[in-house]
Amino acid sequence: MMDFSFTSEQETLRAHLQALLDEVCPAQYAERCDREAHPPREAYDALAKHGWFGLILPVEYGGTGGSPIELAILLEEAGRHFEELAMWLFRTLTYGGYAVMLHGSREQKEALLPKVVRGELSFCFGLTEPQAGSDAAALATTAAAVDRGYVINGQKVFTSGMDISDYCLLVTRTSTGEKKQQGITNFLVDTKLPGIEIRKIETLGQRAIGTTQVFYTDVKVPASAVLGQVDYGWDAVDSYLWYERLCLSAARTGAAAAAFEYALDYAKTRKQFGRPIGQFQAISHKLADMKVMLDVSRMLVYRFAWLMSQGKATRHDAAVVKLYTGETYKTVSDLGLQILGGYGYCMEFPMQRFFRDSRLATIGAGTSEIQRNIIARGLGL
Ligand SMILES: Cc1cc2nc3c(=O)[nH]c(=O)nc-3n(C[C@H](O)[C@H](O)[C@H](O)COP(=O)(O)OP(=O)(O)OC[C@H]3O[C@@H](n4cnc5c(N)ncnc54)[C@H](O)[C@@H]3O)c2cc1C
Repeated sequence: MMDFSFTSEQETLRAHLQALLDEVCPAQYAERCDREAHPPREAYDALAKHGWFGLILPVEYGGTGGSPIELAILLEEAGRHFEELAMWLFRTLTYGGYAVMLHGSREQKEALLPKVVRGELSFCFGLTEPQAGSDAAALATTAAAVDRGYVINGQKVFTSGMDISDYCLLVTRTSTGEKKQQGITNFLVDTKLPGIEIRKIETLGQRAIGTTQVFYTDVKVPASAVLGQVDYGWDAVDSYLWYERLCLSAARTGAAAAAFEYALDYAKTRKQFGRPIGQFQAISHKLADMKVMLDVSRMLVYRFAWLMSQGKATRHDAAVVKLYTGETYKTVSDLGLQILGGYGYCMEFPMQRFFRDSRLATIGAGTSEIQRNIIARGLGL
């Protein structure tokens, strides 16, 4: 049997979420956060207050034990209201919630997970380095064992939200093996430790929270900061990436839907040559193409979430959903800008934000080229 419908509980969950986000994260709020480089803390805190941070965490830590499908609903709706809110939420849920639940010791789980559920802690992810981007496992930041702990030295780039996070899930090298994936260890690093210097990077989009460059100079961390196994951390990195693919794809599908809805409304009301521009085939066909891309994106997101919940998702599925939803967000925002004409190019209209923010979707967390490589490799190429 095949069933494409959501359960009544999932529909209710989405309705509650929409009502809350309409109230705490309306379009004007998202625009102000982007314009003033203001992290959407008020909306983030409101989601925490209403228990959304516990969605995928076990009941014993205060969570509600939701499945990847509920997680996709949460991220899609957050992304529809404000993509950067969804990004912040996803980072804490994935690197603070999911990663600790999966790889944390009992002490780490007991100390951190209830605080994640209550929204008291915020997390970010430090993997990329100046010389290790797409080739992420080539990372060179070291963690050297010393008495009762480690000393970290190196440089990370594009650690998004480091300046507003309590912990960074930092990927380091603790030894060198035959393969670059060997000798990798993950740490939960307190972002306020001495020896950490954070520099903001000016970017085209994602301007409310943005991203940073981080320098680690003789940063001392206790042995209890290790997350998972020493030297065998690459498999753990791989496991977070599954949740990352799902969350990003759902958030971008929501954001693309918001861009589409704005463009559709504009096409129905803006008149030229005595009629709404949506009546010109050149415009209506663009909107038709956008709608099809969005429908396919949503199907891929929920199929992937379902496959994850069944334990059947493959690396190929993860690459397909990341590639397609990222490219869709970028294309929908670009076409949306064209539909608004000169107003699409003006800062006081929201389409430029979608256009700027969406440009990251085909670059961050594995570029579209890398996703195509994974898909092609699965085809035996
Ligand atoms: C705003 C922003 C936020 C980010 N947030 C985070 C974060 O929070 N944490 C984190 O760890 N990282 C983060 N990243 C980093 C991001 O994941 C990397 O930028 C991305 O993986 C690409 O690495 P790179 O920029 O070094 O590009 P490169 O790897 O240098 O790639 C340059 C170009 O070459 C292509 N290329 C490279 N290798 C291949 C290949 N084998 N086959 C075909 N083409 C190839 C790429 O697709 C790309 O087009 C962020 C980046 C940005 C811009």
